[in-house]
Amino acid sequence: MEIIPKITPIYQTSVFKFEDLNELELYFGEPGSRYLYSRNGNPNSDELAEAVNRLEGGAGAIATGSGMAAIFAALLACCQAGDHVLCAADIYGGSSSLLNNELSRMGIAVTYVPFEQLYDLKQFVQPTTRLLLAETMSNPLLRVADLRRLATECHQLGLKLVVDNTFATPMLTKPLTLGVDIVLHSVTKYIAGHSDVTAGAVVAADPETAARLKQIGVLYGLTLSPMESWLAMRGLKTLHLRMPAHSHNALAIAEFLQEQPGVRAVYYPGLPDHPQHALAKEQGHGLFGGMMSVLLADDAAVVNRFMQRSQRFPFAPSLAGVDSSLSYPLGTSHRYLTPEQQADLGITVGLVRLSVGIEPVEELLADLQQALR
Ligand SMILES: *Cc1c(COP(=O)(O)O)cnc(C)c1O
Repeated sequence: MEIIPKITPIYQTSVFKFEDLNELELYFGEPGSRYLYSRNGNPNSDELAEAVNRLEGGAGAIATGSGMAAIFAALLACCQAGDHVLCAADIYGGSSSLLNNELSRMGIAVTYVPFEQLYDLKQFVQPTTRLLLAETMSNPLLRVADLRRLATECHQLGLKLVVDNTFATPMLTKPLTLGVDIVLHSVTKYIAGHSDVTAGAVVAADPETAARLKQIGVLYGLTLSPMESWLAMRGLKTLHLRMPAHSHNALAIAEFLQEQPGVRAVYYPGLPDHPQHALAKEQGHGLFGGMMSVLLADDAAVVNRFMQRSQRFPFAPSLAGVDSSLSYPLGTSHRYLTPEQQADLGITVGLVRLSVGIEPVEELLADLQQALR
């Protein structure tokens, strides 16, 4: 009996068998024709990497054990000891900690570029500068980078542009089509989308970098396990349905929150008064994603009361699941910045970040209304 599954089963195996020496030679002679060892490649992680590669329009991709592993692999693909990188000051806290605490030890130096100066990099560039790391949409203030302009600026200075596209996803923005060299994801977030898997992915615009990424993934052991790959792949199949749903809910909630007396500011690119609204609309093809931040009173008691009363937005410091949640940048993602850095980024006691899910929007609005009362 021949068993022909409709979807890829989970190849929950660390290693694959060979018939004889001839088969072994085929493995090395025809790369990609067979599997040897799951850290080097597994049908499930390859399926995920290929799916993300296709969505982003890349020349090759790897699936990694986390978003952090994806950032590490992307930076290592371009840098070695003695090199220097630029990083947008508005960046995921883990990215800056990795650069400050770990890559610095490996001889890779970093300079942070304030959002306002991202398109004028000359003053920050050194002879050893290799790249700029930036995000399509930043956390927690949802500042939107003009990727086409950024790519032009980087290439004029001989730098690569590496973009963390976790918040936007390729459903809003495909950075490689705008000139970006490497795009990466915390697959943990929207791509997997169900808050049940930790994973990452890196996609390269050119085949040489894709090959480097593959080697780095294998040798540093950054690759993703079959089960996690399978779960992420299952999530990815509905990404194109989830992103419009997240976006529509988030826009309705942002509009509602803007009108509430206890809310001092709402940071959401879909609101017309957002500083990069026009860019976000064009670059996101009319969708603005499910992430926003809300500024309440700068009073921990007010924030605590809001968290305690909300039922549909549990305080869970991650994001992008089908179920809504909220997070607190000052205490979690941006905890280890200096007080000056926190103040510069507008991260204060009253700032709460919402990850809007795909539940019926009336239920979310009713919950927020009672939580704010
Ligand atoms: C969560 C996150 C990461 C890190 O991803 P992990 O999967 O947690 O390792 C990187 N970048 C952004 C924008 C994130 O939100």
